[in-house]
Amino acid sequence: MTTRTIKNPLVMVPGPTPVARSIQDQMGRETISFNDPRFVRESQALINDLKRLWRCDGLAFVVAGSGTMAMEMGIANIATKDDRVLVCSNGHFGDRYIDICERKGFPMETIRAKWGTSVTVAEVDAKLSAQKFDILVVTHVETSTGVQFPLKELMQTMRKSHPDVLVVVDGVASMGGVEFYMDWGADIMLTCSQKCFGTAPGLGIVWASQRALDKRASMPKIVESYVDFEKWIPVMQDTMKYWGTPAVNMLWALAEATRIIEEEGLENRFQRHRDYGEAIRKSLTAMGFAIGAEPQYAAPTLSVILYPEGANIDDAKFRNAAYEEGVHIAGCLGEFAGKGFRIGHMGNLDPHILVSSIAAIERACVKCGYKIEPGVGLAALQKALLNL
Ligand code: PMP
Repeated sequence: MTTRTIKNPLVMVPGPTPVARSIQDQMGRETISFNDPRFVRESQALINDLKRLWRCDGLAFVVAGSGTMAMEMGIANIATKDDRVLVCSNGHFGDRYIDICERKGFPMETIRAKWGTSVTVAEVDAKLSAQKFDILVVTHVETSTGVQFPLKELMQTMRKSHPDVLVVVDGVASMGGVEFYMDWGADIMLTCSQKCFGTAPGLGIVWASQRALDKRASMPKIVESYVDFEKWIPVMQDTMKYWGTPAVNMLWALAEATRIIEEEGLENRFQRHRDYGEAIRKSLTAMGFAIGAEPQYAAPTLSVILYPEGANIDDAKFRNAAYEEGVHIAGCLGEFAGKGFRIGHMGNLDPHILVSSIAAIERACVKCGYKIEPGVGLAALQKALLNL
């Protein structure tokens, strides 16, 4: 640490994301019992808001746990051991869903994309047309590559050509930042608190269509207990009912995050994420970096930023320098590991945060001997922001 070291670096990893003061305040409230009428009312309103905002005809579940728990909850309640599951993977987190399904022993096939690209709708369509599948699993935004799956287009094809296949979507790095509504025809959508909702980590959120709930009702008892819809349906329908202790303060925080989302407006929020994603990528490419995702797949919520060829940037040193200059960015995973960094641009961000992040990255470049003209990235960012 030097006297110039910034004590509280901006949290620009792809989750957790910066937590707004009003959301933090909810976590600091005095904790009350989960059956205090005030909490019962507030948590019921949250469940109803989550359903309403994302146009869900079934039920929203909010359960303590991380995104991986929500992934497990999503598939465990919709697939029986005889259901044929097709899992598409665009990288590390798609592979995690493959692992979850493998462990559960579903008859499964996979389609894997080259890192930086996406499985295409045509590939999915061909596979579903050639063989019978009961369930399709996709990742909306793959956090290891910054790739967005063309979900809207996929859902059109599913409705038209494969209406009986249930669709599970990992929306951990998209929900609340990227356009999506349950009435596109998805059966399970899932996320967690620390990404686009801009809340601290700790809650999993799962939206289930009425068709998904009907499927669960038709299934025998499942081996999982904590994530079983049957345990949680009564609670989510009537938050006075108790099964497992809810994370009271986290639910308040999520309710405030949801209020902020509604106040901004979903469509405005989706547009802002698209705009900020483009602005960040323009700024970093102006500094000589490359983008890990192919342009047509670049996600609105996070980017993989590759070090310029021949620049000899030491990955660990660079990210440490960025941290010391005041921005926490993440290392890359899998095939991109060591070749660049990941930057989140999701949640409750504003131009101050973007400008400070890029300024810190510029200083890190200079500190690491990667010669850029200070201000080159900022100029591109400012132009992009002024053009919005
Ligand atoms: N899916 C995706 C797309 C993710 O980005 C992540 C977390 N980065 C997960 C699943 C797992 O979430 P968690 O780390 O909260 O368990």
